Amino acid sequence: MKQLLAFSLAVLLFLLAVGCTREPLPEPTDTVVAAMDTEMQLRLYGDTDHAAAKVLTEELLRLNDIFSPTKEDSVLYRLNRFLTVQDADLAALLRTADELCVRTDGALDVSLLPLSRLWGFIGTAYYIPSEEEILQTLTRCGADKYSLNGDHIQLHNDAALDFGALAKGYAADQCRAYLETIQMPALLSLGGNIQTVGTKPDGSAWLIGVQDPQQPDSTLLTLSVTGTKAVVTSGDYQRYFEHDGQHYCHIFDPSTGSPVQNELRSVTVVADSGALADGLSTALFVMGVEQAAAHWRASNDFEAILIDKNGAITVTAGLADSIAGCEFTVIER
Ligand code: AMP
Ligand code: MG
Repeated sequence: MKQLLAFSLAVLLFLLAVGCTREPLPEPTDTVVAAMDTEMQLRLYGDTDHAAAKVLTEELLRLNDIFSPTKEDSVLYRLNRFLTVQDADLAALLRTADELCVRTDGALDVSLLPLSRLWGFIGTAYYIPSEEEILQTLTRCGADKYSLNGDHIQLHNDAALDFGALAKGYAADQCRAYLETIQMPALLSLGGNIQTVGTKPDGSAWLIGVQDPQQPDSTLLTLSVTGTKAVVTSGDYQRYFEHDGQHYCHIFDPSTGSPVQNELRSVTVVADSGALADGLSTALFVMGVEQAAAHWRASNDFEAILIDKNGAITVTAGLADSIAGCEFTVIER
């Protein structure tokens, strides 16, 4: 009996010791950074001394100083003003943009800044230009209006670049790379560009709400993601103006020189790379449902959720098991 008691006590002490030494799960800490014309939220798991948040904040502000089209001393501002600049990040993202431009048949085109200015998306007031003004402005746009040699970018006279379609995705890639080196799980929201890093400490999936284009304050569906992914949405409700009952959004169709007018209201892309997801969400929005579905069938590096003007939701097959909260149609290979 004595032996049994001693044994039970030993087991109890062992269990208590194990219980006491078990590491608590890393707690999340939140940091907000104002950069790239938006509010960025960084949720880091286990950043007890806020050292990682500091590194990421500095990196986001550094990238803002490169890619801001309006900040007077940004690298991009200088390029658009003086037509020439040397910069490794700008050149790297321009290379990615070029590949996406080719791959999407010109739907993604970073040389459309003259159009954004013409229509008043950059500047003081929205404006509906004449067909002649649009055609005239289109002559200043296109991939033949810039050249890239190493890190050196040269613009033709009257051309101007805008990385609004990709820069936040590129920033998410830079943050992700750092967080991977220090093995810190994170959920980043860079103005609507979501980046998950690693596995959530409690082992559950990352849950990401996709906005309802009809009511952007509410969520239309929830996407569940495991591991490291970029989830990026382009939508006609993010920046727009209305005139005579017509809705004009901030994404341009390079083939017409006007804001995109098709059946889509939003496109969400899920991919391994932030810049790819960001560039593709913009490009698929330009393409419309049919062409976007064809592009997905011809690719193997992304999945997408398409929401049209009637609220109908179409998702590529790879996401069919990851979506909750709504009815949807699946695009098969
Ligand atoms: P996003 O919100 O990522 O879809 O990017 C939209 C932003 O990219 C716009 O505010 C413009 O600055 C720029 N943009 C608009 N149309 C295009 C296009 N077809 N290709 C590349 N950039 C574009
Ligand atoms: Mg984009």
